[in-house]
Amino acid sequence: MKLIKEQIPMKEQPPEVRKKNFEEVPLGYTKEEAILEASRCIQCPVHPCVSGCPVHVDIPAFIKAIKEDKLQSAIDIMNETNLLPGVTGRICPQEDQCQALCVVGKVGDPVSIGRLERYIADWEFNKNQGKKRVSISKIDPTGRSVALIGSGPASLSCSVDLVKMGYSATIFEAFHKGGGVLTYGIPEFRLPKRIVNYEICFLQELGVSFVFDFLVGRTATIEDLFKRGFSAVFIGSGAGAPQFMRIEGENLDGIYSANEYLTRVNLMKAFKFPEFDTPIKKGKRVAVIGGGNVAMDAARTSLRMGAEHVYLIYRRSRNEMPARVEEVVHAEEEGIEFMLLTNPVKYIGDEKGFVKQVECLRMTLGEEDASGRKRPVPIEGSEFRIDIDQAIVAIGTLPNPIISITTPGLSIGRQGEILADADGNTSIKGVFAGGDIVTGSATVITAMGAGRTAAASIDRYLKEGS
Ligand code: FAD
Ligand code: SF4
Ligand code: SF4
Repeated sequence: MKLIKEQIPMKEQPPEVRKKNFEEVPLGYTKEEAILEASRCIQCPVHPCVSGCPVHVDIPAFIKAIKEDKLQSAIDIMNETNLLPGVTGRICPQEDQCQALCVVGKVGDPVSIGRLERYIADWEFNKNQGKKRVSISKIDPTGRSVALIGSGPASLSCSVDLVKMGYSATIFEAFHKGGGVLTYGIPEFRLPKRIVNYEICFLQELGVSFVFDFLVGRTATIEDLFKRGFSAVFIGSGAGAPQFMRIEGENLDGIYSANEYLTRVNLMKAFKFPEFDTPIKKGKRVAVIGGGNVAMDAARTSLRMGAEHVYLIYRRSRNEMPARVEEVVHAEEEGIEFMLLTNPVKYIGDEKGFVKQVECLRMTLGEEDASGRKRPVPIEGSEFRIDIDQAIVAIGTLPNPIISITTPGLSIGRQGEILADADGNTSIKGVFAGGDIVTGSATVITAMGAGRTAAASIDRYLKEGS
């Protein structure tokens, strides 16, 4: 059969429609589209795509099963390494990971591995009518319990492996809902919450316990958790503390961190105010500072909240934006106004203390910096002002220090990250860590990979007779 060089496109809501709603943008493959896309995989013997995936999904095998319309077998293959295909199929940076190494990419578009992954996950979701059935073989309980801090992808994947090994796993989460960034950060139009809830219900059915509204470091310390009878602790508390630029006027009213803004909208349903009692400012002229996924999410969310102009202000050029290409394209299509090579230097407020303008400098590109990218250099005298009534700062996040300052003996790096080796061991015996709290802000699949690695280390540690 002749190779189809282009990826089979996935239908999407048109930009004019979707920018007024919170429904998911890409609509998924039909069976025919999925089989056609699966047939683009040539089942190459070396399959380099697998080494591009942090959890080594058996990509050729699950794609072959789709091509043969054996979807249960496809999902079973997937679940051996990846328990959240509905999530990763939607938001993994596939173009930089598995798909970047696909050999078909040398002669045309790489196989759309992520979309096929989403296809089988959605097939399973629909088949089970949103209620996943537990299908793991019964294992003898070890009688040992492990506490996990945070309910993001790192702890979710760690807890499943622990339960499969016969441990009792309890997740302590500061918020009133589970899922970490999947729930409070990434908006519904990119990752529907029914998918995240589906996976969390599955974990609960498997026997993972969740304790919500429990802030480790305040409600109890790690030492207290050991005193309560847990034999090991996994820290998967992420990197949710916002960073600001520390420029003049940054504490004026109407200036949010992206994390606060997105948490209010996604987790606390501020878009349904007053039905949900979470107030939020609905700016008409909004400046979003940053060029990553978080900035794109904040910009596209503020558009859906009713903004007339959303300016995305980024100090580098378009092709240096860390956001996924698909998100950048979607944002542009929806009318986000990109102001590239532009850097805010101060905010100006009105007499009541509300932000009314942001002053920016134009930038040019200079020498390469340590990251191999050209350093943005301010152009002298290029100051200009933009009228705004809201700003959302999305320039990165850091680990929250609450656990490190309440856990004597825990080694911490320069940015406040917990120091752990490749197996997830920290400086304290019996305490493991993985995900963004160790790496700084990264990706869902790397956090899941770290969670799985730590589960294996915890098992070894407990078997060695701690
Ligand atoms: P998190 O998901 O951050 O979860 C940590 C959890 O721990 C949180 O629920 C937090 O409330 C809880 N917690 C923190 N401290 C405590 C404590 N002391 N006690 C109890 N609980 C605590 N990645 C991608 O791969 N693709 C994307 O498209 C993408 N988009 C993103 C968009 C946004 C807006 C954001 C913010 C991130 C995005 N990421 C994306 C990054 C990705 O979501 C993270 O890398 C991933 O969620 C990290 O997982 P984690 O389990 O380490 O931590
Ligand atoms: Fe690719 Fe992510 Fe799926 Fe791995 S989990 S195969 S990197 S889309
Ligand atoms: Fe298929 Fe591409 Fe992977 Fe080869 S590299 S097995 S063609 S997806």
